[in-house]
Amino acid sequence: MTAAPTYDLGKLHGGLRLEANKSASTAQAILRVPVPAQLVLPIAQHVGDPAQPVVGIGERVLKGQLIAEPDGALGAPVHASSSGKIVAIEPWPVSRRYGENAPCIVIECDGEDRHIERAETAPAYDILPPDVVLTQIMQGGIVGLGGAVFPTAQKLMQAVSCELKYLILNGVECEPYISCDDALMREYAREIVGGAQILLHALELDSCFIVVESDKPEAIHELIDVLADVNDDRLVLKQVPSIYPSGGEDQLVQLVTNLEVPSGGLPTDVGCLVQNVGTAAAIYDWIINHEPLVARVTTITGDGVARPMNVDVRIGTTVADVVNFVGGYTDRAEQLIIGGPMTGKTVTTDRVPVVKATNCILVLSEDPALGPEMPCIRCGNCAAVCPVQLLPQQLFWYACADEEAKIRSYGLTDCIECGCCDLVCPSHIPLTFDFRMAKARYREMADEKARAERARLRFEARNERLEKQQKARDKELAQQKEVAKLAGPEAIAAILKRKKQKQDED
Ligand code: SF4
Ligand code: SF4
Repeated sequence: MTAAPTYDLGKLHGGLRLEANKSASTAQAILRVPVPAQLVLPIAQHVGDPAQPVVGIGERVLKGQLIAEPDGALGAPVHASSSGKIVAIEPWPVSRRYGENAPCIVIECDGEDRHIERAETAPAYDILPPDVVLTQIMQGGIVGLGGAVFPTAQKLMQAVSCELKYLILNGVECEPYISCDDALMREYAREIVGGAQILLHALELDSCFIVVESDKPEAIHELIDVLADVNDDRLVLKQVPSIYPSGGEDQLVQLVTNLEVPSGGLPTDVGCLVQNVGTAAAIYDWIINHEPLVARVTTITGDGVARPMNVDVRIGTTVADVVNFVGGYTDRAEQLIIGGPMTGKTVTTDRVPVVKATNCILVLSEDPALGPEMPCIRCGNCAAVCPVQLLPQQLFWYACADEEAKIRSYGLTDCIECGCCDLVCPSHIPLTFDFRMAKARYREMADEKARAERARLRFEARNERLEKQQKARDKELAQQKEVAKLAGPEAIAAILKRKKQKQDED
């Protein structure tokens, strides 16, 4: 991969023009990976708390059946992606950014791929109240398929309370090697456009931009055809130049609307809601075809696999099974990355399952590490390419010194971990990795603080409850004494008898 810094990219600051490396995987149509012998479904495939399993070991399940229900405000359900028997609920290697193992529900597939009963006709969603459509979206287990895996329904619900102007469908797949959205737009443009219409109804909006890079002529052609067919003037196709990372939410908003998302803010702060094209297609599949999010299109590519391509794969299929399907590893295979070369994570085993976030399985022959790390020479390259206009060299300095207040004041939380700074750093400093680690560290500390605060509140509430119960008991005793004083020894005997009867009953 070659990288040349670019300093004038129209409305965007920084960014890089990178070699695309996508032609190998887009040379053929999407192929469907068959049902594997075993599916491994993590219960945490979204940003919130893990879902809670609602099935037990030995239980038989059908495709589309709920197997874990959401827990907490940012939860998302998990559904079985084929029929079979639950054989384990146990930790399994996963491709998470900050951990190696996570609880998974393991299904031994029966190969029949039997679906849970579902309606045969498509519902007229447009006569349903928007909030009902939002609730339905929540039940489909749909999360942002661009990589953020934020539960879609919650994102939509948060957005409806803002003054929204535009829905932006993100088809800008600017990271090298990844081509699943391109393939989806070429072959499922109708589903994407249908998903956009459902979203417009749910959000009560009348303006949607579908945004694609100008170097994707096939996708553009398909979308133009479908848009002409549906003839819906709320939907507008926009083309943008292919510059990494123009597909970042804030960058895309700026490219399309010229509105700048404030530091620490969200696109909704400037009236925009961004959804990935794959998410729109998943919404269509769920609302129209009653198919929850049990499969996705993902890219498998790199010179380490025999036949790079895009595959339609069930969630829970292991990477090993996907690699087998495309003809296995080549002799050159040296490293396995889940995601793209810029934002992906290197994993050490192909036992990890494809999850809702898996947009790419990249097998490369050489380690892209650029060379030994050296001290910062203050060249300023990193700041010049940073799309968020941060000062990565300063962030790095404060990350090393573990100065949380300083690093925050330099905008750590605004860093989108795009990796541009790494690519242009002549000292080969793994800046993005350090920023990721610092974010994880501070997030953990904040979580720990929140947990301690919740424990304190629980402790105080318990003490208050016990105190109230004690007061109530004291009051009752005082009243009984008072009655006894007035009524004499018979009344005392009656009270004691009642008390004994109550104790016996208890
Ligand atoms: S990784 Fe963060 S600091 Fe580096 S260029 Fe990207 S946004 Fe800027
Ligand atoms: S690019 Fe590397 S060497 Fe140059 S200022 Fe940034 S961190 Fe320092």
